[in-house]
Amino acid sequence: MSKKLEDIFSFDEIADDCVKCGKCIPVCTIHNVNADEVTSPRGFIDLLGAYKRGNLELDKTAKDIFESCFLCTNCVDVCPKSLPTDMIIEQARADIAQKFGIAWYKRAFFLLLRHRWLNDLAFKLGWVFQTCGFKIRADIDSMNSRFSIPMLKADRLLPSLRKKSFLNSHPEHIDNGAKRKVAIFIGCLGNYNYKDVGDSLLEILEALEIDAFLAKQQKCCSAPAYFTGDFNTVDHNAKFNIEYFESFAKDVEAIIVPEATCSAMLKIDYEHYFHDQPEWQARAKAIKEKIFMATEWLQHHTHLEQLLASKQKDTKIVTYHDPCHARKMQGIYQEPRNLISKNYNIVEMSDPNACCGFGGVTMQSEKFHFAEAAGRPKAAMIKNTGAEIVSAECSACRMQINNSMHGADVETVFKNPIELIAEALRK
Ligand code: SF4
Ligand code: SF4
Repeated sequence: MSKKLEDIFSFDEIADDCVKCGKCIPVCTIHNVNADEVTSPRGFIDLLGAYKRGNLELDKTAKDIFESCFLCTNCVDVCPKSLPTDMIIEQARADIAQKFGIAWYKRAFFLLLRHRWLNDLAFKLGWVFQTCGFKIRADIDSMNSRFSIPMLKADRLLPSLRKKSFLNSHPEHIDNGAKRKVAIFIGCLGNYNYKDVGDSLLEILEALEIDAFLAKQQKCCSAPAYFTGDFNTVDHNAKFNIEYFESFAKDVEAIIVPEATCSAMLKIDYEHYFHDQPEWQARAKAIKEKIFMATEWLQHHTHLEQLLASKQKDTKIVTYHDPCHARKMQGIYQEPRNLISKNYNIVEMSDPNACCGFGGVTMQSEKFHFAEAAGRPKAAMIKNTGAEIVSAECSACRMQINNSMHGADVETVFKNPIELIAEALRK
């Protein structure tokens, strides 16, 4: 067990370890939109230390405070002690969920995430009725709400639903006549909303002559439930996915994931979550060796870079946003840039590592005013680059950035790097 992992179960020691240097304050996403010491990393750490020592009651005010963290890990990145603020907040949210329960609409959503067939049915019905309440923007896989209802402001941009999901659009085994084979973990937004990401990944694998296994029984990685403190759903989905991955792991070189949040959940958070279930923790640790972000695996294990270099250069300018779950959690930032830069001109935004402000289910519903505020600077820095395309290997970032750009009248189009690569290969 890493030092960092042991640390997350002794909040009071973490509170003692914080030297109050304040380095985390300027980079903290919530502190930047709500400049209060209690909504800052060292504020959270102090309060959690007091809670664990029995000096703070977990009341509604404390709940409100702990639910305001974006879990962006900016603080962990700069902290001289590498204090895992995000992880102790995740643990505290499980206590909050136990004490206060979980709102009905979140429970309904997490129930869908547990059952693929229910998910398929709900999204199918959603596709049928989405035009009633939303204007569809097919050009950007989005729709904006016609009405204002609780927790959904009029004109808010959301990902639109596809008639057929990615997993239901293709056979499970795709034979590209090759000796090599990878499995794909697509993630829920990629499956039901941003389907072109998975379709593009299949195109790339075909060009590289690598067979694909779509792993159709996969369940949601459970990141939305984890960040909300619904550990029952995490337990259910994580155990199912680990067992399922084990059943085909020996037949594939890798399980590739074109989504930063899902891959971080599968690779890193499963191991943390199972800290008190050693058998499952060992299994999570073993299977993670097979899991890669898509650009990471394509860059290091295939000749894609050379193949792209043989294709023509596009004149479009692309700016790349670093998803928190890719750069800070998995150290993946060079790989997508290396691949994109073969065919597009990359212009860096002023702070590509700044959190987009997605923040999870609670931030996107009850605390959406914080997500909106955190998204504005990102939309402005994208606009300042003059880029025609903004890219990030994360559909949660895509949903948030699309809405932020919509609110700021920024015309830049969002594409996952996998879509950009497939487009370059078509030329
Ligand atoms: S995870 Fe992000 S929002 Fe939360 S305390 Fe750290 S920097 Fe602030
Ligand atoms: S950077 Fe780390 S040690 Fe410094 S105040 Fe923040 S949490 Fe404490």
